[in-house]
Amino acid sequence: MVDSAAILAGKILVVDDQQANVRLLEMMLQRAGYLHVASTMDPTEVCAFHLKNHYDLILLDLQMPVMDGFEVMAALKDIEHDDYLPVLVVTAQPGHKLRALQAGAKDFIGKPFERSEVLTRIHNMLEVRLLYAECRAHGRKLEKRVAERTAELNRSVRMFRELADNIPEALWIRDIENHTIQYVNSAWQRLGGLSAASGDSVEAAYRAIHPDDLQWVTHERRKLPGAQASSEYRLVRPDKSIRWVHARTFPIANPSGAAPWVVEIIEDITARREAQHQLVHLARHDALTDLPNRTLLYESLREALARAAEEQLVVSVLLLDIDYFKNVNDTLGHMIGDALLREFAARLVKCVRPGDTVGRLGGDEFAVIVVTPLDNHGAVDVANRIRAALQNPLFLEGQEILVTTSIGIASYPADTTDLETLIRCADAAMYESKASGRNALRCYSAEMNTRARLKSDVEGALRSAQGRDEFVLYYQPKMHIDSGRWTSVEALMRWNRPGHGLVLPGQFIPALEEMGLIVPVGAWAIDTACRQIRDWGLAGLGQIRIAVNVSSRQVREERFVSQVAEAIRKHHIDPALLEFEITESTLMAHGESTDVALRQLKDLGITISIDDFGTGYSNLAYLKRFLVDALKIDITFIRDVTTNADDATIAVAIINMAHSLRLKVVAEGVETREQLDFLRAHGCDEVQGYFLSRPLPADELSEKFRQAGLPEDDQWPISQTARRSTAHA
Ligand code: C2E
Ligand code: CA
Ligand code: CA
Repeated sequence: MVDSAAILAGKILVVDDQQANVRLLEMMLQRAGYLHVASTMDPTEVCAFHLKNHYDLILLDLQMPVMDGFEVMAALKDIEHDDYLPVLVVTAQPGHKLRALQAGAKDFIGKPFERSEVLTRIHNMLEVRLLYAECRAHGRKLEKRVAERTAELNRSVRMFRELADNIPEALWIRDIENHTIQYVNSAWQRLGGLSAASGDSVEAAYRAIHPDDLQWVTHERRKLPGAQASSEYRLVRPDKSIRWVHARTFPIANPSGAAPWVVEIIEDITARREAQHQLVHLARHDALTDLPNRTLLYESLREALARAAEEQLVVSVLLLDIDYFKNVNDTLGHMIGDALLREFAARLVKCVRPGDTVGRLGGDEFAVIVVTPLDNHGAVDVANRIRAALQNPLFLEGQEILVTTSIGIASYPADTTDLETLIRCADAAMYESKASGRNALRCYSAEMNTRARLKSDVEGALRSAQGRDEFVLYYQPKMHIDSGRWTSVEALMRWNRPGHGLVLPGQFIPALEEMGLIVPVGAWAIDTACRQIRDWGLAGLGQIRIAVNVSSRQVREERFVSQVAEAIRKHHIDPALLEFEITESTLMAHGESTDVALRQLKDLGITISIDDFGTGYSNLAYLKRFLVDALKIDITFIRDVTTNADDATIAVAIINMAHSLRLKVVAEGVETREQLDFLRAHGCDEVQGYFLSRPLPADELSEKFRQAGLPEDDQWPISQTARRSTAHA
């Protein structure tokens, strides 16, 4: 309802060419209380007035000269945007009424005026007009609000799309009631390689899931429709490539239904899974050869044994060790060593059947697991195939290398039913292969076990031997062949093993080397020899030089030279009284560190001789380069030097060669006068052997030394270095 005050405030224009009419109407209206009444007698002004004042009501006379009421209405129509002419026509001709209404007038008043009719019509019309205006204003306000809301909504939608399209994860929303897709983002299209749109059935989205995963994925989703969940499954892209994904689903409100919508965010984890896979692979494979490593081999063996127990099969384990691998590594370098392991592995793989397992246990040790129905013949066949395959050289970085292998075989259930024991038996068999001179194949037997146990007993006892002071040095003299004087002694180690008496080095030095214990025990020998030099000096026996045997493992030790220097300092001895005997192979294993160490030992003033000369392969240039002082002709050439022409030739050749290189020559293992005479006749400088004396404990030897006479100056005219060193004495 519009209140009357508002109606009386309505703006009214009276248009009539008759002044009397205008007056009458004006008066009538003012009396009735209308506040804003204007008038004109010129119809051509009406439009301009209305434009300016926006009348709520125009009382319009139809019959006017110049421009009649119809023309005025036509003109007003052009400017009245609301398409609502607030016009009340005043006419005396009832015939014009219909035409006026058609022209847009809202009502009409007859002439002559009947006051109450006129005022009622005006009041009603104003009321309608104001209501209409209010309505319009309200409508406009509503429209504005709707427009604002729509803009807001559009912004939200744009933001959502922008967000959803820019996240790297694929995202889609499904309606679980209608089984339709509500939304898919562009990452989803890219990942799945599918083009699905909102409104499509969810099958369009599930089509990308790997057939093997589809069932459980959809099953799980049906089980808990609107729940939060995460899972990993595979997608198959149209090009058939497979992607692993991690998917998270969660419900969101469904704006138009009861059941919620479900959002699924999918992350491509293919790379991560591949890396994980790689890690798992690395943990169970050997990085160098890519064969199964110890862990995986044991697993396979455990499985094979379990299967064999059920199906009454035979499981054989072949353990293989590459013969002289260390030499290859030391002399040709680690690159070639690694290449050798890889090539060796490749050969092994070619020699086994599809069901067999080949693995690398570490170092140069490999294993093959062979499962056969009856006995271990299948395993022996594999071993023989491997040995045959190795008769062709391996090609390593442009070099051809022939290698052999020592193989040990043990079988379940014949040898044992226990996994660890099976490996140990195979190991014992392999050890026997090696002990038999390598390049051999041995199947496990019970006696091997005894031997293996003995070996491990020795190793156990050796571990505590040094701490219990069980090692002693014996000394064996060397004699100057022309003067018959004793010149120096060689220190030879003995092991006072409780319950076993005095054990010779052949029984324990290789084990010490294998266990790495030769480093501390060898250091002890050097220290003990230095102390002995000083003690003999203090006891008035004179300056007796001691030769200590040194293993290549010691020379390679980083702290070796400094430890030697420390021993010399500690016992205040002349370094020229210390001599090291090293074998040809130690000299030739010329890793950078060996080169440097030997040079530093020379610089300290220590004498160096080559032990067992003639058994290895020496590079003569090396002998000079390292300033070697002496050669010791190996005992095997001396043994039959008087009876075997070949040995005699070799011994003589070594003597002559040594002299031409200005090296001193010592013959070891001289047991007879004949041997001594032969060597003297051919100019050998010194001899050592049972003919002179067996190795003896220090105190027993001191006695003999007194009788034999002390070394003199200048006993070796041939050797410059030797002359220099004796000058200190
Ligand atoms: P080697 O350096 O060649 O020592 C010579 C070996 O021949 C010694 O054996 C010695 O007792 C033996 N021998 C000496 N004269 C005669 C003889 O006239 N006839 C015969 N048949 N043999 C003779 P041994 O003491 O059993 O030592 C064996 C090997 O053990 C040594 O060979 C040496 O390579 C190693 N060795 C001994 N002591 C040490 C040590 O302190 N450190 C290292 N790394 N090796 C050592
Ligand atoms: Ca020696
Ligand atoms: Ca020797």
